[in-house]
Amino acid sequence: MDCIFCAIARGEMGTKLVYQDDEVVAFEDLHPQAPTHILVIPRRHYASLQDVPAAEIGIVARLAAAAQELARERRIWPSGYRLVVNAGPEGGQTVSHLHMHLLGGRQMVWPPG
Ligand code: AMP
Ligand code: ZN
Repeated sequence: MDCIFCAIARGEMGTKLVYQDDEVVAFEDLHPQAPTHILVIPRRHYASLQDVPAAEIGIVARLAAAAQELARERRIWPSGYRLVVNAGPEGGQTVSHLHMHLLGGRQMVWPPG
C-alpha cells in the first residue's frame, strides 16, 4: 500500500514529528491554513474515520488527547482552536489516512467552507 501518511509515521519522509507516542504521531501541515496547523494521525492505517472498527474507536480519543497536549504546548488555549476530521469526498478528505487537523492562532469562522 502506498500511503504518504504511513510513510511519514514510519519516519521515511524526513518529516519532523512534533508529537509521537506508541499509537499517534503529529506533524506540521504542508499547506498551513492557520498560524498553527498540525495533523494528528494514528500510526495504524485507517482510510477514514468510517474505517475505524468499533472495537478500535479508542484511537480517536488518543488523537484528541495528543491534540489537547499540542494545544497546550502551542499556547492556543484558552484563546481557542478548531479540530477537524474531513471524511470522504464531500467532507473534503484528500489523504486517505485518518487524520485530525489542529488549527489555531487566528479567529475561526463558521460555517466552514
Ligand atoms: P484532508 O484534506 O483533510 O485530507 O487533509 C490533508 C492535509 O494533508 C492537507 O491539509 C494537506 O496540506 C496535508 N498534506 C498532504 N501531504 C502532506 C505532507 N507530505 N506533509 C504534510 N502535510 C501534508
Ligand atoms: Zn496510511
